[in-house]
Amino acid sequence: MKETFLKVRDLEVIYKTDLETVYAVNKISFDLNKGETLGLVGETGAGKTTSALSILRLLPERTAQIAGGEIEFEGRKLLEIPEKEMQRIRGEKISMIFQDPMTALNPVLTVGDQIAESLLLHDDKGRGRDVIEARVEEVLEMVGIPASRKKDYPHQFSGGMKQRVVIAIALACNPMLLIADEPTTALDVTIQAQVLAMMKDLKDQLETAMIMITHDLGIVAQTCDKVAVMYAGEIIEYGTVEDLFTGEAHHPYTDGLFGSIPNLEAEEDRLHPIEGMMPDPTNLPSGCAFSPRCPKASEKCRQLHPDQYTVGSHKIRCFLYEENKEEVK
Ligand code: SF4
Repeated sequence: MKETFLKVRDLEVIYKTDLETVYAVNKISFDLNKGETLGLVGETGAGKTTSALSILRLLPERTAQIAGGEIEFEGRKLLEIPEKEMQRIRGEKISMIFQDPMTALNPVLTVGDQIAESLLLHDDKGRGRDVIEARVEEVLEMVGIPASRKKDYPHQFSGGMKQRVVIAIALACNPMLLIADEPTTALDVTIQAQVLAMMKDLKDQLETAMIMITHDLGIVAQTCDKVAVMYAGEIIEYGTVEDLFTGEAHHPYTDGLFGSIPNLEAEEDRLHPIEGMMPDPTNLPSGCAFSPRCPKASEKCRQLHPDQYTVGSHKIRCFLYEENKEEVK
């Protein structure tokens, strides 16, 4: 059995200003085992990136607050350790691939220097510049860029190549956990396929675990082992990728996501998008957050907040699965 090294329990994050409070993440829990990939799926504003930034403790200090919950990484409570220790964990043990390679790189530094930066920062053994340079060349080759290009600047690379450099920076220290925040959104479809295939190969080769943040179920099918579907800051469905794609029971929101995907074999030629908008995170509905858009909503759904119920091998937060199901808080 694989070892669980990341446990997130009842994590709550709010953004507070003088005028309002945004309830961005509302009591989410999930586990990640070594070498596994978890997909965090949902629309913009569902709380995916905020959840990931909480793990790295990179939320904006002035407005964001972790209002509750725990994050345990290799047995240590990340929300309680001093910032100095957290700096050691970032980059060395947990790395992040940011969404837009066009803005993630520093335009005035060569790509080699940008990869070397995190290696130098975590070089306690004083390995020296030659060893660091050799590692820079190695990771560039790993992501399919000739080592000779280490002296080039970001503007000399295409969008796909820039994203490969961002991945090389994230992998430089051989982290245990890689958080990829929509890593292919800014790329065209063919480059997207190449970058995803490369990430999967590298992950398997290095046995790195990954959290893949995406709104694209196709990416989930290609890359993930487990999936957490997020809506209005909550995980509303959680299970294996097989549960999601072959299971019969789903949260109505997940059904809506599937209905929004083009299907060449479907008899009907129209898509069925989910009507309406995500609720205002400063004023979430008192009942089920999806109730204003849910075709199956009842009066009970509008008044009471559903718990999560175990359905077969996965968990669904919906009253439709309340009967005869084991409730999990
Ligand atoms: S609890 Fe009710 S409103 Fe919410 S998803 Fe289930 S059926 Fe729809």
